[in-house]
Amino acid sequence: MTEPKKTFLITNASTDDAFEQARDDCVLRAALRAGLGYPYECNSGGCGSCKFTLVSGDVEVLWKDAPARRERDAENNRYLGCQTRALSDLTVEARIVPKFVPKHLPAVRRARLDAVTDLTSDIREFSFASDAPAAFLPGQYAILLLGEEPTRRCYSMSNVPNEQGLWLFQIKRVADGVASDQLFSLEPGDEISFDGPYGMAYVRPETPRDVLCIAGGSGLSPMVSIARSVGLDEAQGSKRLYFFYGGRTAADICGENYLTDLPGFGERITYHPVVSEPDDAKSTGWSGATGFVHEEADRELGDALKELEIYFAGPPPMAAAVQKMLMGREVPFGQLHFDRFF
Ligand SMILES: Cc1cc2nc3c(=O)[nH]c(=O)nc-3n(C[C@H](O)[C@H](O)[C@H](O)COP(=O)(O)OP(=O)(O)OC[C@H]3O[C@@H](n4cnc5c(N)ncnc54)[C@H](O)[C@@H]3O)c2cc1C
Repeated sequence: MTEPKKTFLITNASTDDAFEQARDDCVLRAALRAGLGYPYECNSGGCGSCKFTLVSGDVEVLWKDAPARRERDAENNRYLGCQTRALSDLTVEARIVPKFVPKHLPAVRRARLDAVTDLTSDIREFSFASDAPAAFLPGQYAILLLGEEPTRRCYSMSNVPNEQGLWLFQIKRVADGVASDQLFSLEPGDEISFDGPYGMAYVRPETPRDVLCIAGGSGLSPMVSIARSVGLDEAQGSKRLYFFYGGRTAADICGENYLTDLPGFGERITYHPVVSEPDDAKSTGWSGATGFVHEEADRELGDALKELEIYFAGPPPMAAAVQKMLMGREVPFGQLHFDRFF
């Protein structure tokens, strides 16, 4: 069933359906900051979940080549909420869905880089400290603002919420990546701004089901956060937790050390690494599982997949392959949680 549409205003008038957008913000994030249940997923112009129809007013399109922008969108006055800024009062039509109401209102904050730890040759953990408590749901992400312009990119937190204001991110270096190049040149003591939390693929502690986390490459961070939150929560102490991590070579395998101190590790909590290029020189000596991570999860868990609460994250082809495998196993869609990376 399609959700009913609701019209709301971006205006200075304070009506129930109105919210304000700061000059350097965008329609989607301003709506979420105001506590509205505005549907979205990637916040990066890739998925198209946040499109709205412009009824009146002037807007600026922030990223004209965003992958989710279609030619016919302009003819139909359709815009991506995450890539559109109000230049005047607007009347827009968009779906408003209660489940998207943020549990923690997103805000822009400053943070200081405290420490970095290399997990592999191209994945680094960045530990940032901010003044306010780190209030987010495990599995969520923040938008890091880098440089003068600034460049905005989404990165998932790898730690769990905390009063000390620590925000940890595990970030994969992308060759010639605009953001990752800047991130990997940061030194402890450097400050950045970040905006969050965002994302719907957060942990659901209230479900009684056992938990499966599947991560590939850059998807490690949110899965570590979810696994640690489940593993550290006494109330979930009877749950079985499977953690599958896929890398190309043996040298890319990491993440187990985030699980080993959890009560029940090796028994009810298990780590399953898998390598897709076992013949590569960097896989010398690898005697573990080989293939793609979705294949290994399917092999190991088979029909039991249907009974699990499943979280997954990683590069788009990996996430698509996991989703296809799980749909093939007839896992109810409501048990799957993922925010597509772009
Ligand atoms: C929800 C989510 C969570 C993510 N979590 C992680 C994580 O935990 N760890 C991790 O390593 N990566 C994560 N990513 C990927 C990350 O956001 C970056 O895409 C990746 O680091 C490459 O960025 P780059 O600038 O280095 O590379 P580039 O190749 O320079 O940029 C690649 C990406 O930037 C975006 N982009 C390009 N041009 C523009 C523009 N003009 N305006 C706006 N966006 C633009 C596109 O989405 C593109 O895919 C996540 C992505 C999403 C959507």
